[in-house]
Amino acid sequence: MILSTAEDLHVQKRVLIVEDEASIRDMVAFALRKAGMEPVHAADARAAQLAIAEKVPDLILLDWMLPGLSGLDLARRLRKEQISREVPIIMLTARGEEMDRVNGLEAGVDDYVVKPFSSRELVARIRAVLRRSPGGDGEGIVELGRLRIDEPAHRVFAGGSAVPIGPTEYRLLHFFMTHADRVYSRTQLLDHVWGSSVYVEERTVDVHIRRLRKTLEPFGLDDMVQTVRSAGYRFSAES
Ligand code: CA
Repeated sequence: MILSTAEDLHVQKRVLIVEDEASIRDMVAFALRKAGMEPVHAADARAAQLAIAEKVPDLILLDWMLPGLSGLDLARRLRKEQISREVPIIMLTARGEEMDRVNGLEAGVDDYVVKPFSSRELVARIRAVLRRSPGGDGEGIVELGRLRIDEPAHRVFAGGSAVPIGPTEYRLLHFFMTHADRVYSRTQLLDHVWGSSVYVEERTVDVHIRRLRKTLEPFGLDDMVQTVRSAGYRFSAES
């Protein structure tokens, strides 16, 4: 059984491109792949939400003009939902839509790129936004409630105290903290934390959940790991 380290999970940044124009989508995807990132496509708001539910991206490139729900309305919606609240958003706008920037900033958009843009400019803006974001290339700090993960140092803290933690529990906790308040089945946890290419029994998940609770117990935080009957597990700062 080969387990990747927690760092491996963050090597390739996953970028969701929400754009109805296939030519722009393809151009952007090509540029991202060349820059060592992993592009995912969605042609409208609905497809974008499905893609986010499947796997939360590191960044969202959002076209202003989309069929159905506009990019701006989608941004507002994503900011309200726990799962996508922290994901940085870069808006793609056409010239003339710039005056709406104020609306965009209120909707929680992190940056803008005005069409037509060069691949180089776009990639530079994406990197800059990723560096600033939690879990990005910069500080690499993930926080939830009293828990904090220092990604570069590979350490976990509860309040001010260091939490001694095993490698698998670290990865499980990292996944939970970056995907809080959602129920995951054992199969989904296996896919996300262990990787779908690795064969592990579902029971293994329960074993590591138990160990994670034990790890958090001395800090009074074990009830953050919640069992949801006949569904799976949820991690939450609220009991
Ligand atoms: Ca468009």
